[in-house]
Amino acid sequence: SVQVLVVGAGIVGCSTAYHLARLGITDVLVVEQGPLFATGGSSSHAPGLVFQTNPSETMSRLAASTVQCYSGLELDGQPCFHQVGGIEVAATPQRWGDLKRKLGLATAWGIRGELLDPQQVHDRIPQVDPSRIHGGLHVPTDGIAKPVRAAEAMTREAKRLGVRFAGNTEVIGFDVQGGKVRAVRTSRGDVPVQTVLCCAGIWGPKIGRLAGVSIPVQPLAHQYAVTSPVPGLEPGADEVRQPILRHQDSSMYFRQVHDRYGIGSYQHRAIPVHSNDLLPTAAPGAGAEAPSEGGGWKGMASVQPFTPEDFAGPWADARELLPALKRTEIAEGMNGLFLFTADGMPVLGPSNEIDNFWVAEAVWITHAAGVGRAMAQWLAGEVPDVDLRQADLRRFEDFAHSPSYVGERGAQSFREVYDIIHPQQPPEHPRPLRTSPFHDRQRELGAVFLEAAGWERPHWYESNKPLVDGREIVEPGPWAGRYWSPIVGAEHQATRERVAMYDMTSLPRAEVRGRGALDLLQRLTTNQLDRPPGYVTYTLMLEPNAGIRADITVARLGRDAFQVGCNGPRDIAWLRRHADETVQVRDITGGTCCIGLWGPRARDVLAELADRDVSHEAFRFFRAKRLYVGEVPVLALRLSYVGELGWELYCSAEFGRRLWDLLAAAGAEHGIFPGGRGAFNGLRLEKGYRAWGADMWSLHDPDEAGLAFAVKADKGEFIGREALLRRRESGPRRRLCCLTIDDGTVLMGSEPVFADGTPVGFTTSAGYGHSVGASLAYAWLPADLSGPGTPVRVSYFDQRHPATVVADPVFDPEMSRMRR
Ligand code: FAD
Repeated sequence: SVQVLVVGAGIVGCSTAYHLARLGITDVLVVEQGPLFATGGSSSHAPGLVFQTNPSETMSRLAASTVQCYSGLELDGQPCFHQVGGIEVAATPQRWGDLKRKLGLATAWGIRGELLDPQQVHDRIPQVDPSRIHGGLHVPTDGIAKPVRAAEAMTREAKRLGVRFAGNTEVIGFDVQGGKVRAVRTSRGDVPVQTVLCCAGIWGPKIGRLAGVSIPVQPLAHQYAVTSPVPGLEPGADEVRQPILRHQDSSMYFRQVHDRYGIGSYQHRAIPVHSNDLLPTAAPGAGAEAPSEGGGWKGMASVQPFTPEDFAGPWADARELLPALKRTEIAEGMNGLFLFTADGMPVLGPSNEIDNFWVAEAVWITHAAGVGRAMAQWLAGEVPDVDLRQADLRRFEDFAHSPSYVGERGAQSFREVYDIIHPQQPPEHPRPLRTSPFHDRQRELGAVFLEAAGWERPHWYESNKPLVDGREIVEPGPWAGRYWSPIVGAEHQATRERVAMYDMTSLPRAEVRGRGALDLLQRLTTNQLDRPPGYVTYTLMLEPNAGIRADITVARLGRDAFQVGCNGPRDIAWLRRHADETVQVRDITGGTCCIGLWGPRARDVLAELADRDVSHEAFRFFRAKRLYVGEVPVLALRLSYVGELGWELYCSAEFGRRLWDLLAAAGAEHGIFPGGRGAFNGLRLEKGYRAWGADMWSLHDPDEAGLAFAVKADKGEFIGREALLRRRESGPRRRLCCLTIDDGTVLMGSEPVFADGTPVGFTTSAGYGHSVGASLAYAWLPADLSGPGTPVRVSYFDQRHPATVVADPVFDPEMSRMRR
């Protein structure tokens, strides 16, 4: 049987096959329904603009890796990448501010860029009217990819190494037995396989359905048009010399195509298409990449007729920015189809439903070679050297596969593709989607909700306004201060003085039960979990290369029963993937709820309501007990993410409201109040509690992340142990450090850090420590710059702020507040 069968010879399928071959996996068959290599899929007509900078480090690194790959390829002496540079212009002061922030992102992720004044933009693209813009962000390594040419060039090399390609061959079904694909049915017969990788682009959901796999992506039309010849562009000149151009205030982009411009727009209404309504592709023939030379798009199933009425607004905007276009017309246009997802990220990796059915979908040309490389590493059993947590198919829970959610959020991603999106900006629809049992009470208290994984989460409570009186609360600037209120600072300080109730329901948790439960958890985690029932342990799950896959909190509730607090559905999938028939892993998030009762008066409140002794002697730190709070059966874990005395109180959802009301009533005399995520984030930052995904991920090992205390290397075998011991021989090359920003500027995270004028790292979580009175940020820095006292600078918008590495954590390092 074939080791890997790839469905689709678009840019993603070809690039993955090529990288597999380079890793030595050559028993690969790529099956394509259309002709090779202008197949009629989205890659066949994409204009190929590559702008690398992205708020996500993952996406920027995938793009940079793609540029590197395309730049090294050629087909019969023709380049696959024109490194003409990219310029994003700002037509509004807000966008100009955002481009400064974006320059910081580029620098943080290792991409060189510079800000240009309007004249400098005009010098590079003379058609741009400098009076219309505030300036531009120039990235010299951006450019134009030639996707069909790159696909063919990669294919030639892959073929040379032994990979086979079958054009004009349609995948029509799968033979699935015992939860595995045994064979792929094609229009030319069945092919037995070990693994399938679906790179079918807009046809992906249909292919998934044939195998019983859900791929949560939405095909949408996007307009692209080519003008008649543009004054100032030479006929017969190179295909492209000018930098590519983005005019994001109008949701548009531009590229030179010989003596014309190609113009793309996201300004129009979302135009969704169901993947079942797509035709199998018709042969488009040659010239697909050079539409201006003659209608190469016609007949492609991924292209729908141009709707000129949707282009009227963009066309007017284009002529304002580039007045030369007033002397041109639209020569031709299309509504081309490609995929959008709920969060704008690709969908990669093995499916939940079928072990050996993998996907690589919703990938742009911009990221395709980087994705192909990472997918090849992953399929080869390695840990990809770009962290794919944000792109993992298994990040989506069941609800996020519903057609309604995928459709609505996909359309939203389309509308927002060029918007200035604040990292905390919640989606507007569909909401409310998931609410905790405390939701009504929270609304009565004036909670201001943000959203995470569908959950409504109070960020602060207007009812806490009186807490602000008499306090000095440091205000962040306009960007970090969006989705902020002085109440956040007041809730933060008051948590350290009194007692607060934090709704922790949205933190995913699983029950792991059965004869093999301890063995499973011991094998997957770093810390010693073979402790008596009633103990709670903070531990890590590692990748085989010792990168941190997750941090979890495990409460042993019985000999064979554990409750595991996780980061997300990927962790639960990981537990399930390794469980055999002696273990049951059940997601109990939705059926339960949790209140974090935290603060120096927490014990006073709980003691009044609990049927058991909750003194320090009777109920120690990091222990779990079942007790009654009033009538409510509660599982209490004595721990706290905010660094204060207290408990996480779990109960079954139907008792949630009663639990809330009892605590609120009993706490009244102790000054209890509800606390929001804003305060929570500042409190955990001060206490140095890392958040997986924000502060560390699969590229970091426990020592680098400052979590060596959670590793008991002598407990026996666990995933990642050997690799960690090997890494320990040379010691960490970089470390997660705590910085104070010396001038008090409050940061957001993802800012570049400089030493002696050179970028050396980037910030992760940042915010204001309202108890310690300092602006804080965690940052990844080279080990030799990680010592307390090291001076560095952090760039925020266009200013560099002095900062100092400090000992971590800055609040209560002796743990005196929690252990009493
Ligand atoms: P495709 O290229 O569509 O390949 C999928 C392949 O699977 C197809 O060849 C198809 O025939 C094959 N297939 C499907 N079903 C079957 C089956 N049953 N059996 C066998 N084979 C099958 N991205 C950028 O980065 N920069 C841009 O400037 C850019 N501009 C764009 C402009 C437009 C108008 C559009 C529509 C998209 C643009 N994109 C751009 C996005 C980009 O084109 C796509 O994201 C990318 O091409 C997707 O590549 P793919 O390999 O996943 O899909």
